[in-house]
Amino acid sequence: MADPAFGHVVIVGIGLIGGSLARALKAQGATERITGVARSQQTLDRALELGIVDAAMRDVSAAVRDADIVVLATPVASINALLAGISASLPEQCVVTDAGSVKGSIVDAARQALGEGVSRFVPGHPIAGTEESGVDASFATLFQHRRVILTPLRENRPGDVALIRTMWESCGAVVSEMPVDEHDAILAATSHLPHLLAFALVDFLSARDNQREIFANSAGGFRDFTRIAASNPVMWRDICLANREQLIPLLSEIQAQLSSYRSLLETGDGLALEQAFERAKRARDELPGIVAASLGLPLEEDTGGVEE
Ligand code: NAP
Repeated sequence: MADPAFGHVVIVGIGLIGGSLARALKAQGATERITGVARSQQTLDRALELGIVDAAMRDVSAAVRDADIVVLATPVASINALLAGISASLPEQCVVTDAGSVKGSIVDAARQALGEGVSRFVPGHPIAGTEESGVDASFATLFQHRRVILTPLRENRPGDVALIRTMWESCGAVVSEMPVDEHDAILAATSHLPHLLAFALVDFLSARDNQREIFANSAGGFRDFTRIAASNPVMWRDICLANREQLIPLLSEIQAQLSSYRSLLETGDGLALEQAFERAKRARDELPGIVAASLGLPLEEDTGGVEE
């Protein structure tokens, strides 16, 4: 591999995540060069104009031909097709990773597309993001003090996993590893279910006749709860569908929880309602400390708030 450390990095999908990765790697001087790939000329022109890539192409097979690392950072459903599209063009030593928010469906697609070559695919997921999308939303510090989860495969070469770990660490991330199934179960609870609930609440309220009055009189709490409903619908459609096996049982459980709250309201059981809210408040109060400790940060540097 050419110096600096990561050689020629090809980032397919230079939006919020891919663009931020490109910016962070550039800020470190950690690559020999970065090639960005997107479908639209507008995205490619903008990435070049912003100086976050050295070259920009639409033809993904041509782009990866002399890559050292390929990072797939497009919406989840398109990653499956891209893996099939690049499999014949990848050079011998190239390591492929991704940023997709669901891992099971992508790993299945990688096994199908790459065959034995799946050993070069190190699945990853940065737990960092905002509700914005596109290359203009990207910024170099997005991954600072944020977690990146790798879900290595039994076929992976240890050196390839270490390379992808080092790439994310060079962007300021804290990297951990877990099995694919565990990743999808945890992210369904912490990310996919909350997004679904936020979309559902805003969709529900926006269909009401007095929607404008409701929104006009909303305060910070409503904005906090619904911020993530401003996220990219295509991205979240893909994520929810790809992780529906985990998401559907969780939805059933939260529906049961809401039904039990409804019963407490119907019977006017204030004590039980208060106890339920008290349990939730205690758990929520502990959240910043748990996150900070897991990232090895002091409490005041807890980075909760804007991640996906
Ligand atoms: P984004 O801002 O919408 O960026 C997607 C990029 O991919 C754009 O540059 C888009 O440009 C390009 N693109 C889309 N389809 C393509 C295709 N078939 N071939 C080549 N380029 C394509 O999305 P994002 O938020 O960065 O998310 C990217 C991935 O990261 C997703 O898999 C998502 O699940 C994951 N992720 C997102 C977050 C988050 O909070 N946003 C956090 C962690 C992980 P064109 O439209 O010009 O093609």
